Parts: sequence; C-alpha cells; structure tokens
Amino acid sequence: MLLTTVAVAAAPAPKPKPKTKPRATAAQVGARMRSWHAPTPNKTAPVDDDGRPMLALYSLNTSDRLEVPAAGERGGFSARDLDRAAHVLREPGSGCEHPMDPRLLDLAYRIQTFFRAQEVRIVSAYRAPRRHRKSNHGLGRAMDLIIPGAADEEVAKFGRELGFVGVGIYPSSGFVHVDVRARSYFWVDRSGPGRRNRERGILGDLAARSDSQALTRGEHPTPPFAPLGDVDAWLRARPSHAAPPMPPEEDEDDEAADTASPAPTGNADF
Ligand SMILES: [Zn+2]
Repeated sequence: MLLTTVAVAAAPAPKPKPKTKPRATAAQVGARMRSWHAPTPNKTAPVDDDGRPMLALYSLNTSDRLEVPAAGERGGFSARDLDRAAHVLREPGSGCEHPMDPRLLDLAYRIQTFFRAQEVRIVSAYRAPRRHRKSNHGLGRAMDLIIPGAADEEVAKFGRELGFVGVGIYPSSGFVHVDVRARSYFWVDRSGPGRRNRERGILGDLAARSDSQALTRGEHPTPPFAPLGDVDAWLRARPSHAAPPMPPEEDEDDEAADTASPAPTGNADF
C-alpha cells in the first residue's frame, strides 16, 4: 500500500480519472421530477395576434426555448418554424439535428393546449440512430416530454385518445414518451434512469379503438400506410387486438434514461 502511494507521488501528475456520475438517490430523483413538473408561477403560454396560444417548447437539456404560432387549433407550423423546432429538439450531446415530423409538433401542440400549459418541456427528442437501434426518436417522430402542471398519467391518457400515436409512460423517470406512427401502441416502463428497459404493452383495445375513431374523423396515420378508402375494410384487415399489442420500434427509449438527467446548470427558471 505504502509502495503504491510513493510510486504515484513520484510520477508525473496523473490524468484525473473521468468521474462517473453517481446514481441519483430516490429522493433526488423525486425532487427533480417534482421541479420539472412544477409550472413557473404566473406564466402562461404566449399567444399570437389572434389570441391563440403559441407552441412553446423548452429543452430541459439545453435550456433552448422556442415559441411559434400555430395555423389552427390543431397545430400547423410553417416550414421555417419546423426548422427552428428541429434545432431545439436536436440531440444535446452530439448537436445532431433532424427534421421533425410536422405531426409530432401538432401532437405536442394539442397536448399543450389541452392542458393549457405554459410550455412543453422536452426531456429528449431527436436521438441519432445507432447500430442495432431503431426508434422513432431517430426519425424525428418522437419526444419525451413533461407538461408542467399536469400529471404524466393524465398526459398519457389524453395522448392515447388521439389516434396513430405511441404513448409510453415512465413512472420512475417521470416523463411521457409520445410519437406519431401508423398504428397506436401504448406501454408503461417502470425502469428508472440508467436501468434496462422494462417495457410492457398496455391498453391494446384502446389503441385499436382510438385509431378507428381517428380514421372515421378523417384523420390518417403516418406512412407506411396505404389508404384503402374504405374504413371497414381497413379495420377488417387489422390483426385482432385481442392478441398482445404490437411492440413498438425496438428499444424505444433505450437512451432516454441518459438524457433524462439534464445538467442542473442553465437557465431553467422553474
Ligand atoms: Zn421516448
């Protein structure tokens, strides 16, 4: 032991070892989740000239903020604003950007306005695809979000009604995953930050029902999808949802645990 100490002391100053981030305690995680969900007092979403709420995105990782007007109550954003959104929704570590599916922004807008939220807080959106990993995050079709002032379960419940969406709830990490896809799929994952996914499909019947209702409202899912022009035929062609629901894109949130720990620095004002 002594010899080791002497040898180290005589050598040139060793490079400091990269510090491994200590895993947050349950109390710390709980406190962080509460702060992320707490609305900033006396703050509301900005409104446009017509008095309509604007989409307000706030990245918890970068503290970037974007406020853009919607064309209508269901969203609708200009190409320029979609570009700006893609920047705010970039992968924080790499800085990689990817075009965002406009329907994802519409989805975020509908959630924000339904809850009359001051903003949508982004835990993670675009994540560059890697080998052996496919995810709607890598297609610009998914975001993990927090709605200040709203419980995750309520956000998920609303999202599940919309049709052609993926909705995953992460009770331990404290966020909701939403994405746009051809056939709805819902899940819960109770694994905490840094843990291996433990995803479980839920509410398959509701997923099928939400899609059929969206279809009868004249809405359409994301490609790949071949419109048949006949809702009944389309529904008949669907596999039975009595079977376990179709799994989502594999490893849907394999990295969310990493990105769900934004640095405490920054301009977070909540
Ligand atoms: Zn996700």
